[in-house]
Amino acid sequence: MRRIAIIGGGISGLAAAFALEETRRSGSLPIEYVLFEASPRLGGVMVTDRVEGCLVEAGPDSFLTEKPWAIDLCKKLGLADQLIGSNDPERKTYILVKGKLVVMPDGLMFMVPTKILPTVFSPLFSLRSKIRMASEWFHPPRAASADETVAEFVERHYGPEMVDRLADPLLSGVYGGEASQLSVRAVLPRFSDMEAKHGSLGRAMLAARKKMAGATKRSAAPLFTSLKEGMQQMVDALVARLDPSALRVSSAVQSVIAQEGGWTVAAGYQSDHFDALIVATPATAAASVLRMTDEKLAAELGEIRYSSSVTVTLGYDENVRRSLPPGFGFLVPRSEGRRMLAATFVHNKFPHRAPENRAIVRCFLGGARDEQILESHEDDILRIVRAELKLILGLAAEPLFARVYKWKGAMAQYGVGHLERLQRIDTLCQKLPGLALAGNGYSGIGVPDCVRSGTEAAGKVLAALGLEQNSSPLQA
Ligand SMILES: Cc1cc2nc3c(=O)[nH]c(=O)nc-3n(C[C@H](O)[C@H](O)[C@H](O)COP(=O)(O)OP(=O)(O)OC[C@H]3O[C@@H](n4cnc5c(N)ncnc54)[C@H](O)[C@@H]3O)c2cc1C
Repeated sequence: MRRIAIIGGGISGLAAAFALEETRRSGSLPIEYVLFEASPRLGGVMVTDRVEGCLVEAGPDSFLTEKPWAIDLCKKLGLADQLIGSNDPERKTYILVKGKLVVMPDGLMFMVPTKILPTVFSPLFSLRSKIRMASEWFHPPRAASADETVAEFVERHYGPEMVDRLADPLLSGVYGGEASQLSVRAVLPRFSDMEAKHGSLGRAMLAARKKMAGATKRSAAPLFTSLKEGMQQMVDALVARLDPSALRVSSAVQSVIAQEGGWTVAAGYQSDHFDALIVATPATAAASVLRMTDEKLAAELGEIRYSSSVTVTLGYDENVRRSLPPGFGFLVPRSEGRRMLAATFVHNKFPHRAPENRAIVRCFLGGARDEQILESHEDDILRIVRAELKLILGLAAEPLFARVYKWKGAMAQYGVGHLERLQRIDTLCQKLPGLALAGNGYSGIGVPDCVRSGTEAAGKVLAALGLEQNSSPLQA
């Protein structure tokens, strides 16, 4: 019997455990696994609450449909009929500009304008930026050189206003990070490739769209997918499929040591020996548990920065619902001087999450520039959010309920040079047979990428044990 330890019971660790469980149940390979989770519950940042008939997501609320791994996992878990799409006909996002909500023009793909008229007439950009956008069309292809920040890259194409009004707020929403810190190659690899091939991102985007239109017409898949009972449904289904005796909650691993051709894992007052090990925690925690095994590896992992996030969900009555703008929500550029980074009108994005006589507004704070919000008392955070909603939306009504969730060091920040760091980490890991890394610190922060990383890590350790084909845990 070969024994495998998994450290971390978020979606990455659970996906790894599920892949091993499937192998174990098939009886094809003699394996057993133990999953160590520091907290009393499994699922990491994936938490769904029910409050007064409303479904409240504490962490992720959905995932990108175009990345298939989370949907595939849901299907394997028997949740195919529970998958739901975002309400895309209602999709409309606003940007706060000088205190007013301005709708993002039609045809903007991430931040690349692909339709001329809506961009020309949009009040979102100044005349100077519009001229920059037009001249971007003539950018010549640029040979890939050194990595750079997203801000440098976007500014080169569209100027500083695009960084402030779109790139930065969009990245705050996804990574809790700043365009001036994040690596364009790690965060927007498609854009780097487009620049190398086409020069202009606008032309590249249109060429890609034409190609897609020429190929078989894609079904109108929704942008985001979620589950009827919330993201926790995926966690519950995963846990129900795992061997209960393999799950050790409230078991923080302090250290691991490579010895006797395997791994000794120390959690609490106990230590246990395994043949292989999957570390599926944030990279900072991975650095801490691996420091006695390989200082260099721990140092590289420790260099992957994380930011914190606070989500605040407010429930309102039907009068507020009627008064709120249509659309999915709004983004707040830093230059607006607010603490809030973004807000989602949940009742529009996923209508069944609120009864028809309720509105749900979910607000995001924190991120790389406002770590101190984490130290604030919940009442103070609520005061900030309500004051800002009053200024931005004129929303002064007393909420029917409010929930505040704090996520410390949960959002990985892929800084400039991240891809080179991953290569060094991969090289160091190869010297430690039977070790695989998974989680949001490496090649994708979203739920689908975390599922992929966990599944690949399981494949990698089985291969290292001579039980299955090899695959790299860090491959995209
Ligand atoms: C507020 C928020 C909103 C988000 N929204 C979206 C979204 O809408 N769509 C999307 O795709 N993604 C979203 N994300 C990102 C995505 O949810 C996460 O990247 C992903 O869930 C991380 O999963 P994970 O298992 O890698 O890490 P985590 O969920 O952080 O789990 C890691 C686990 O490891 C455990 N652990 C740590 N150290 C140890 C130790 N020493 N011993 C044992 N256990 C340990 C922790 O307790 C934790 O349970 C969001 C993230 C946040 C925080």
